[in-house]
Amino acid sequence: MTKVALVTGGSRGIGAAISIALKNAGYSVAANYAGNDEAAQKFTAETGIKTYKWSVADYDACAAGIAQVESDLGPVSVLVNNAGITRDSMFHKMTREQWKEVIDTNLSGAFNMTHPLWSGMRDRKFGRIITISSINGQKGQMGQVNYSASKAGDIGFTKALAQEGARAGITVNVICPGYIGTDMVMAVPEKVRESIIAQIPVGRLGEPEEIARCVVFLASDDAGFITGSTITANGGQYFT
Ligand code: NDP
Repeated sequence: MTKVALVTGGSRGIGAAISIALKNAGYSVAANYAGNDEAAQKFTAETGIKTYKWSVADYDACAAGIAQVESDLGPVSVLVNNAGITRDSMFHKMTREQWKEVIDTNLSGAFNMTHPLWSGMRDRKFGRIITISSINGQKGQMGQVNYSASKAGDIGFTKALAQEGARAGITVNVICPGYIGTDMVMAVPEKVRESIIAQIPVGRLGEPEEIARCVVFLASDDAGFITGSTITANGGQYFT
């Protein structure tokens, strides 16, 4: 039977590359997104991958969205928690809204999506949870206290949940990309982007497909012994 994969933030950027790579690897893929209908429609037209709109920051919306995906495609066996946002500001200027929005999306989003799927994966004795964290969750980044905290939280979430899933055949892993050439990074002023690239030993931004290939491997049966792992893919910028 074709396995079903659900990718949050799966219609743009890294998520879109992940959705396409999983489809090419033989999965039946559902791509969630938050609000950019135009990008989602274009993505579906180009790839044939169905898109579903809800916010990962809303638990009830996640539960309802997952129920819809499972009714359309069948039980989800691979969840990719990719949706993420930045609301950058130096800490002394950071508002409570900037803090809350980022934590609600990047960290609570992983809980909100994984929790409704967990018991089904336990019952079926198979599951793959793959969360996209960030280099800045590993090393911390000034101007991103909210983002760094949320992404470090994703790593702790993964390490703890991996221990709970292991006997049930569920692996839980996290990928920490370095800087990848998506809208999120292209929104940074060009001068800042050039200074970022200067700090990357391989001398370039990463490509979304380079993260997608890590996801396809972690989702595969071949990766069954890998759980609780943090995969770093950052062009040599930071070692843990
Ligand atoms: P983009 O900004 O290009 O795309 C973000 C995606 O997430 C969009 O599909 C967006 O939906 C979706 N999204 C945002 N908020 C929500 C929400 N509340 N509910 C559901 N979907 C949501 O981001 P990237 O592709 O660059 O980043 C993907 C992930 O990788 C993020 O978690 C990011 O933190 C992480 N990352 C990115 C790096 C980079 O250099 N780009 C580096 C390290 C980590 P919509 O299209 O509707 O707006």
